[in-house]
Amino acid sequence: MSQLLTRASSINRALDQIGDKWCILIIQEVFWGINTFGGMLEATGVSRGVLSNRLKWLQSMDCLRKRSSDGGPRHPVYHLTRKSIDLYQHALMAVIWEEKHHPPPPAGKVHLLHRSCGQSLQPRLRCGSCRRDVDGRDVSYHPGPGATRDVRDKKVRRRSSLSAHEVPGEHSVYRNLINLVGDRWTANVIALAFHGLQRFDEFHTELPVATNILSDRMRYLVRQGVFATRPYQQRPVRYAYELTEKGWDLFPYFLTLLQWGDKWCDPTGAGRPMCLTHTVCGENLHGEVVCDHCGEELRAHHVDFTIGDPV
Ligand SMILES: [Zn+2]
Ligand SMILES: [Zn+2]
Repeated sequence: MSQLLTRASSINRALDQIGDKWCILIIQEVFWGINTFGGMLEATGVSRGVLSNRLKWLQSMDCLRKRSSDGGPRHPVYHLTRKSIDLYQHALMAVIWEEKHHPPPPAGKVHLLHRSCGQSLQPRLRCGSCRRDVDGRDVSYHPGPGATRDVRDKKVRRRSSLSAHEVPGEHSVYRNLINLVGDRWTANVIALAFHGLQRFDEFHTELPVATNILSDRMRYLVRQGVFATRPYQQRPVRYAYELTEKGWDLFPYFLTLLQWGDKWCDPTGAGRPMCLTHTVCGENLHGEVVCDHCGEELRAHHVDFTIGDPV
């Protein structure tokens, strides 16, 4: 198995564990109450072999636990662990991006009710210090105590192209987002764009990826409206890739993933590879996902949800 050395990153570490398209969808389904093999098969549109492979993987990553159900040992159910329940705020950020940019039909809309205050809620990402909403353009980055290099197995980079047959089930709450973040290169490119990278060569220097694959991903992100192109040079013409509003709106999804990676995916124990500053208040940035009514931080067991018509 070949290996490569990359800059340590909590986003990359998190993606190595759960960033596979099917892993993201499986964890999502368990959050929304679908936790049997058959239920996941139907909800995600995955093949049996891939589903059973990913369920094993997620158990080995301590993100799912298998228990026997009332139906006996041949019909197990899958439960979230402390580690994967901690992805809850991240899952909420996926839902609000999807609802804003690809409004679902009424039958697919997620309604959230905050038990603590009794209100139906819209999650917000705010800075834990100044309590203002966080915009990705108000963040600066500097190396943290764990800013080293990671040895990574190349096998986790398995797909070379975005194949049409991998489109997930149409009922999925993440049906559009998943095609952006469930591909490793696309996810990496978006994460780097938040740091200010704009030119093809800059992305290529950071990512050990073939030029044609990277071009494919850049074109895809432009088609999806995540990037807009702007020529910065003529003869030959070269384009900068600038995040659009839709692209910047992915920042909460990535920030919550980064924070999860900081907490749960630090194999060296050295601490965060990267520190973030909220330039609005000048403090270390820790994003909190809160209820827009009462301002309390949202936890899975304090929120009821329905998909479709509210009850
Ligand atoms: Zn702040
Ligand atoms: Zn509330």
